[in-house]
Amino acid sequence: MAVETKDAGLIESINPATGEVIGTVPEMGEAEVREAVQRARRAFETWSSLPFERRAAHILSVCDLMIDRSKEVARIISNETGKSLADAYLAEIFTTADLIHFYARKGKKMLEPRKVSTGIFLNKKALKIYQPLGVIGVISPWNYPLSLTMGPVVTALFAGNTVVLKPSEFTPFVGKLVGELFEDVGAHSGIVQVVTGGGKTGEALVRSGVQKIVFTGSVETGRKIMRAAADNLTPVVMELGGKDPMIVLDDADLERAANAAVWGAFFNCGQTCTSIERVYVTEGVYDEFVAKVLEKAKQVRVGFGDGKETFDVGSITRPAQIDVIDDHVQDAIKKGARVLLGGRKMDEKRPGYFYEPTVLVDVDHRMKIMTEETFGPVLPIMKVRNRDEAVRLANDSRYGLGASVWTKDRNEAERLAREINAGGIVVNDCLAHFGVPSLPFGGMKESGFGRTHGAEGLREFCEVKSVLIDRIGAKKEIFWYPVPNWLSPALERLLRLLYRRGLAAKLRGR
Ligand code: NAD
Repeated sequence: MAVETKDAGLIESINPATGEVIGTVPEMGEAEVREAVQRARRAFETWSSLPFERRAAHILSVCDLMIDRSKEVARIISNETGKSLADAYLAEIFTTADLIHFYARKGKKMLEPRKVSTGIFLNKKALKIYQPLGVIGVISPWNYPLSLTMGPVVTALFAGNTVVLKPSEFTPFVGKLVGELFEDVGAHSGIVQVVTGGGKTGEALVRSGVQKIVFTGSVETGRKIMRAAADNLTPVVMELGGKDPMIVLDDADLERAANAAVWGAFFNCGQTCTSIERVYVTEGVYDEFVAKVLEKAKQVRVGFGDGKETFDVGSITRPAQIDVIDDHVQDAIKKGARVLLGGRKMDEKRPGYFYEPTVLVDVDHRMKIMTEETFGPVLPIMKVRNRDEAVRLANDSRYGLGASVWTKDRNEAERLAREINAGGIVVNDCLAHFGVPSLPFGGMKESGFGRTHGAEGLREFCEVKSVLIDRIGAKKEIFWYPVPNWLSPALERLLRLLYRRGLAAKLRGR
């Protein structure tokens, strides 16, 4: 879906596949954001004091409601994004339900206090305890308006926080729907507040004194948010852009790799942070791989409908993105790339924003298509001499979100996973790691920091407190005042005994 500011204070949401107006939402200002944060803070008092099981039961009820209303949910997502209903079910509703059930099952254990070693303090007990932070600000993008919103929202809630959500101005109705699901389920009103608007509303939320901001979006906006968050020292999680490489080696299953390349580049019209954005293929199998990709890419069906007809790829969601995609393709062509398929905006006369699924070869790193995030249905394929060149080129990027490697040699795959600088590596598959809720998800380099999913993702929403407990109850520790005369020489000897390598090992019989 696309959105434009219609008049001051209102944002218009448009179906980007048809041009139809969906409706308008208010562009909320500082005062409304502040009030939402206050409401969430009041809800925090009760919500944070509930035992984990009660919080989990409530979130599962919201999940049930989402499933009962899934036809409506999928339709709203599809209308606002232009994506197919199948994409809406698979990557939005399914992944959300799966994440909720994962934390409902495993979250309690992840948040339990952990006993840790006390080292030389034999008379103490040491614990790490996890407590909610307070109110979390979630600022989400348009490409997966449900899953990238519900993901951080429910994770924050499982950990005992409450949330103020600022959905993308391009998908405000999906954001509102998230708020409604939490309100319609009945109890615990107020734990999720939704504020609609664009960048200014988002900035007001960053400056509102929330305990943490979880941001998913572009690098450019991430930088602005970090600057604004610095004033209050508000911590941030940054889930930013990507330029994910796919590496195909001589021994790969080329049929599977070619199918994956086409799906991984065109799924959700290429508007996935972990889309396959560039492919490196070793020269022994390059020609065969390209031929297979082309054959499969030609069969991809582009369109938008009511579900009666099946399309593989929908429209571009954010209208301005189509010019970015075309700019990258034209830049590549100017610098010597060959277009094997597509390469143009589709049918300029019809409403909606569609770009032809595009396959490019003879590409290199002078071109934007190999270095900047394209976020569209474009698959550039580059021939490389060997795996080392592929790794060097894969790492020649300011991004480090995901990558996929294709080889039948498991040891080689593991070596590649260590050598590629990215937060998630998928072997003989692509994009799928986001759908595994136990795996922490996030980036390196300019793709951001902090993690969602897994135990790490849940604990992002916690204060980790260190608790040290004296178990003996002596009236005084030996180093408290007055310091005994023998302490310094004794410490000197103890230091040698405990930590001087060689001597300590000898004494311990190692
Ligand atoms: P965006 O940065 O334009 O906007 C994201 C959100 O930030 C929106 O809600 C927007 O209103 C808000 N925003 C804009 N300016 C702001 C400001 N100054 N202060 C506070 N909030 C502000 O991103 P987008 O175009 O919606 O999303 C696409 C980008 O997101 C791509 O780069 C994609 O790779 C990235 N992304 C990353 C992940 C990930 O997990 N790493 C997932 C999906 C998308």
